[in-house]
Amino acid sequence: MSVPVLEDLGDLDGRRVLLRADFNVPLKGGEITDDLRIRAALPTIQWLLEQGAIVTACSHLGRPKGEPDPKYSVEPVRARLAELAPEVTLLENLRFDPGETANDPAFVQKLIEGQDAYVNDAFGASHRAHASIVGPPRFLPSAAGRLLEREVDVLLPLRADPARPFVVILGGAKVSDKLGVIDALSKVADSLIIGGGMCFTFLAAQGHSVGSSLLEEDQIETCKRLLESDVTIHIPSDITALGPGGKIGDPSAGGEVRQMGASLPDGWMGLDIGPGTAAEFTDVILEARTVLWNGPMGVFEDPRFEAGTRAVAQALADTRAFTVVGGGDSAAAIKQFGLDDEVDHVSTGGGASLELLELGDLPGLEALRGASNAHD
Ligand code: ADP
Ligand code: MG
Repeated sequence: MSVPVLEDLGDLDGRRVLLRADFNVPLKGGEITDDLRIRAALPTIQWLLEQGAIVTACSHLGRPKGEPDPKYSVEPVRARLAELAPEVTLLENLRFDPGETANDPAFVQKLIEGQDAYVNDAFGASHRAHASIVGPPRFLPSAAGRLLEREVDVLLPLRADPARPFVVILGGAKVSDKLGVIDALSKVADSLIIGGGMCFTFLAAQGHSVGSSLLEEDQIETCKRLLESDVTIHIPSDITALGPGGKIGDPSAGGEVRQMGASLPDGWMGLDIGPGTAAEFTDVILEARTVLWNGPMGVFEDPRFEAGTRAVAQALADTRAFTVVGGGDSAAAIKQFGLDDEVDHVSTGGGASLELLELGDLPGLEALRGASNAHD
């Protein structure tokens, strides 16, 4: 059974529509530093307005503690939205009410009061069983907005019938953060590429010394099991490391940066894949027909350790494969390199994209499928 989409809402002329959006934009000193999330909701908003609907939008912003907190007021979002879509009303931060995260039925009633239909376009929040995500579809005809629809259309087929070879690139900080998705994707992918902080637990599982690199002792057995499974796993054969006394993000602190093999001496911290590994990974990506990338290859926030992540981003841009980027930091990295327009899809949800890839479903999607207007 598929999720109802905007066309499944019926006639909306003069009807009131509650839109759950993800306007959780980055703020600095009360100013929006990137309004992408607001602009990303515009196709859905425009469509609803064209149908004659009266749109009330709602979102969470940051993590207020279930009570009003001026620091997390949606006022800056309201001001930007008034420029982009002046017809839309925006409710105050959903998380000012403890009923949002608690999925309190009374809060759901408050949200849907006076509304005729509900649209969820908040992919990045759809892995949470919060009131505004799972509540309204129990009472109102409901649909996925365009953004949510596209995320599902791109991500779900990766689990089922990806064009092969299907290569999954995993990086970021920890194995334990992504174990679920690694397990799930190792069953469908033709090969896994492992970089980032998590590669050191894999290297340790192969018997390498990892110096002062990020290591999760309790995951070594898991990495051994994965290395012995049927899927091909590419792990780094060389590493860019920072020597004793060095500090991440602060070149002036000193510390030598050196290219090393797969084993690191005591006191050295592996912070990026090496150039040989970057070239090997590039070859695999260029041969692929589908590529999913989640997690940077190194500490790309520090220019000394961005080369591996940049190489992978460039390979995604160059390959003829269908390319998908998931994860907040990976999306930030590909944007930083100016290559975000060169890939097929950059997911707007970090946790949500991982959970959808792992489980094939999200609470927000399940709720939409249960709505009265959903079809088989
Ligand atoms: P995403 O948001 O794309 O899912 P993660 O949140 O899992 O990615 O990981 C991103 C973080 O991992 C980045 O802040 C990066 O600095 C860090 N990281 C990458 N490689 C290493 C490494 N070798 N050691 C420590 N941290 C790393
Ligand atoms: Mg992250």
